[in-house]
Amino acid sequence: MEELSPREKYSFKRKLEELEAIKGQHTELITLYIPPDKQIYDVVAQLRDEYSQSSNIKSKTTRKNVLSAIESIQSKLRYFKKPPKNGVVFFVGEALVGRNQTRMVSEILEPPYPISIYLYRCDSQFFLEPLEEMIKDIDTYGLFLIDRRECTIGLLIGTRIEPVSYLTSRVPGKHGRGGQSQRRFERLIEIAAHEWFVKCAGKALEVFKEQKDLKGILVGGPGPTKRTFVNEEYLQFSIQKKIIGIFDTGYTDDYGLKELVNNAAKSLEKLEIAHEKEIMNSFLEKIRDESGLAVYGEKEVRKALEMGAVDTLILSGGLRKYHIWQECNQCGYKEDKTVEKIEDETCPKCASPLEVIQKKDIIDDLSKKADEISAKVEIISLESEEGDTLQKAFGGIAGILRYEVNIPET
Ligand code: ZN
Repeated sequence: MEELSPREKYSFKRKLEELEAIKGQHTELITLYIPPDKQIYDVVAQLRDEYSQSSNIKSKTTRKNVLSAIESIQSKLRYFKKPPKNGVVFFVGEALVGRNQTRMVSEILEPPYPISIYLYRCDSQFFLEPLEEMIKDIDTYGLFLIDRRECTIGLLIGTRIEPVSYLTSRVPGKHGRGGQSQRRFERLIEIAAHEWFVKCAGKALEVFKEQKDLKGILVGGPGPTKRTFVNEEYLQFSIQKKIIGIFDTGYTDDYGLKELVNNAAKSLEKLEIAHEKEIMNSFLEKIRDESGLAVYGEKEVRKALEMGAVDTLILSGGLRKYHIWQECNQCGYKEDKTVEKIEDETCPKCASPLEVIQKKDIIDDLSKKADEISAKVEIISLESEEGDTLQKAFGGIAGILRYEVNIPET
């Protein structure tokens, strides 16, 4: 199965979000999943059944809406000899917009991966779980830090670090008196250390066994203790075999968890986090060194894109905005701008209602412009610290330039 690029994943996710926001007044939104191996005539036959059953719906409005939704699907199915290679999903029905106002929604989606179920559902919202499942691939890693004093257990979920458990020990330091008692003292230390390791391993089992899809465990800590702990196999077998790397960290607390992920990032290059960190670090570096090669803010980035000067366009996956083009049919007034929500607006010149003639998701819009000048596009997820910085400090839109440009103030 081919991996979706972050951009494709983003667009698909965005589409699902839009569908999720749609509500029907009653159970009159139809979702129809057709897997690739399904015969279209079987679907047509079932729809005919559903149609005759729906004729018995008591409420007149609901009946009318359900029937017209089925008719709409039937007419669209005529264009299919067989389902597309990944199957197809229909979302059709009267959606509620404002008080008692409705609008006909009709979306046909070809999913990025094959669908395995055949399903017809009539509900007050669309059924999206099987599609959401397709892009839910957030990896979880276990994080385990240990030395003779502290042990911190956490999780790396996507790019977010979550501390789960913190333990401290009473293992005494390795210095005692000489002679007979010195050996006895060392023996006591070893017993205490052994007990400490057993306790930490028990906690690790407790935390990690709850994670069904743990991709791997990263072990860290200062000094040799972590290796002793791993080599002597204190961890339960199922946990032990998930260890994918042992790394040096300066700390064994929450800060150590960050160190661990940073230090592990190289060997986990597949992890998005490493890549995202790299991009953001190089952007931040260019801001700091005042080379003029960093740019941020929608207006500035658009200008730089127009000038063909952008090497890497950096966008926050948390951007939820549209660029819209609107027009006044009365006086011909035109404008385009970026908005978070599309609302009815009136013409500033003649006060007639403005018509939205085009709307583009801002990530799609800017990415397309970047494609035109062969710039790289990076989407930074919101879960990481870097993503947070990008969104909060730079409005979610930034870029690294090929060369310094003068962006005129407007
Ligand atoms: Zn006007």
